[in-house]
Amino acid sequence: MPIKLDSIDTAILNALSKDGRKSFRQMAREIGASAPTVKLRYERLVSVGLIKSVSPVLDLSKITRTAKDKLDNNLTKTQTNQIDLENEILLDVDCEYCKAQIAGKPLTLKILEQERFFCCTSCRSLYKEKYRGRIDALLSKESANNV
Ligand SMILES: [Zn+2]
Repeated sequence: MPIKLDSIDTAILNALSKDGRKSFRQMAREIGASAPTVKLRYERLVSVGLIKSVSPVLDLSKITRTAKDKLDNNLTKTQTNQIDLENEILLDVDCEYCKAQIAGKPLTLKILEQERFFCCTSCRSLYKEKYRGRIDALLSKESANNV
């Protein structure tokens, strides 16, 4: 007998379709249910096989084709859906601050485990300045967790 999905189930599906990395707590807040409820419902949706996996949505236009790919046109069909991990993958990245595509070697700023990319030192420092509060909050939260 089919199970009936209620508004909590559909809200979870919608939330995950938009952002698969959302935490149970975040979804609970948005949906107006408790985090344990959201977790149970999520697990049910997985166990009935409706949610097969939560996977990243890739923007393959960000990938610069390697010289080998250009020679091997037969690969293009499979590569529209999948990335060939055998080849070197070059990813075009946009500057986190000015949003322009980075032409040269990107400068990085590592906050905890997350790396952000910038086109130049001034973008990097402007970004640091703009988000200082948020960065400090992240870092202090992390050090509080380590105590
Ligand atoms: Zn920039």
